Amino acid sequence: MQHVQLSPEISVPIIGLGTWKAHPDEMQTAIETAIAAGYRHFDTAFNYNTEESLGNALERLILQGKIKRSELFITTKLPVFGNRASDVERFLTMSLAKLKMDYVDLYLIHMPFAFACEADSMQPAKNDDGSMRLDMDSNPLDTWRAMEAEVRRGRAKTIGLSNFNINQIRKLYSEAKIKPTMLQVEIHAYHQQTELIQACRELNMAVTAYSPLGSPCAQSHFQEKYDHKRDIPELLTDPVVEEIAKSLDKTPGQVLLKHLIQRDVVVIPKSVNTKRIKQNIDILDFELSDDHLAKLDALDRGEKGRVFDFRFFKGVETHPEYPFANKTHIL
Ligand code: NAP
Repeated sequence: MQHVQLSPEISVPIIGLGTWKAHPDEMQTAIETAIAAGYRHFDTAFNYNTEESLGNALERLILQGKIKRSELFITTKLPVFGNRASDVERFLTMSLAKLKMDYVDLYLIHMPFAFACEADSMQPAKNDDGSMRLDMDSNPLDTWRAMEAEVRRGRAKTIGLSNFNINQIRKLYSEAKIKPTMLQVEIHAYHQQTELIQACRELNMAVTAYSPLGSPCAQSHFQEKYDHKRDIPELLTDPVVEEIAKSLDKTPGQVLLKHLIQRDVVVIPKSVNTKRIKQNIDILDFELSDDHLAKLDALDRGEKGRVFDFRFFKGVETHPEYPFANKTHIL
C-alpha cells in the first residue's frame, strides 16, 4: 500500500475506511472484511457513533493476533461542540476510552466554528428556534494549543485540521508550535479543491479527501435528520466516469478514487458492504491515462460542487469562523 508522509516518522496509508453513517451493528463485519482486504487506516469522529464499535472490532482482531495496534492508523476528531481549549482533554479522553486505545495516530479539529455543548446529552446545544447555540468565544488557536499538549503527552501522534479554509489554515499554521500535518476536507471530481491542495502542499501538509465518491447518502441524510433540502447530483453515475470505468473494466467508484490517489490525495471512502469495501482498495493495479485525468479534471464544478456546506446546522453561517463563501450552494 502506498503511504503519504506526514513527518519523517509518521506516514498514513493512502486509502482508509470512512465510517460516517455506518451502523454500529454493521461495523464488526465491515472492519474484519477491511482488515482482511488490506486496510490499516480507519477514519472516525466523536460524533459518528462509530468509535466504540470500531474500537471493539479492532480490539478483537488484535487479541486474535490478526493485527497489531502499531500497524494501524486511526484518525478521530474533536467535535464542533467541544471546540474549545478547555474541552480538548476530556473529549480525547472519551474518544480513547471508546476506541480502547491509549493514543490516536491523528487527531483533527473537526470544524473551525464552535457550538455550545449540551452537558447531559453531549450533543450540540440549540436555541428555541432550532438554530445552533454558537460559541463565539472559542478561537482555533487556543484550541490548537490544547491539541499540541496532547501530542506532547503522547495521546495523539500527530494533529491536523478539518473543514478549515486556506486563510484559517495559514493563520493557525504561522502561530502553531507543532504544525498541522493534515487537512481533511471534501474533495471529489465535482469539487476538486485544486488551489487548496496546492496551498497545503506549500505548507508541507498532506490532504485527505472526505466524501471521495460524492457522498451519495448525504442528500437523504440532510433531509431526514435536519429537514434540509439539497439537490445533490450523483457523481457515481456521471456519464464521463461511467465511460472511463467501462473502458478500463473498473467500477465508477474505483475510477473516482484512483483520480484522487494519483494526485497523492489520501481517500477515506465509507462502505459497510463486503464487495464495495474490497473494490475500493483494489485500485493499485491500474493507472488513469493523461486523457482520463483531463476528462475527470473537467468535471470540477468548483464551489457549486460542494456537498458539505454545513448549513443544515441552522445559523452556522453567522459564526465568525464559518469557513465557506457566505452564499448558498444549492445546485
Ligand atoms: P463517500 O465515501 O463518498 O460515499 C459513501 C457512500 O457510498 C455510502 O453510502 C456507501 O454505501 C457508498 N459506496 C461506497 N463505496 C461505493 C462504491 N464503490 N460504489 C458505489 N457506492 C459506494 O461519502 P462519505 O461517507 O460522506 O465520506 C467518506 C468518509 O469521510 C466518511 O465516512 C467519514 O469518515 C469522512 N467524512 C468526514 C467529514 C468531515 O467533516 N471531516 C465529512 C464527511 C465525511 P455502502 O456502505 O452501502 O457501500
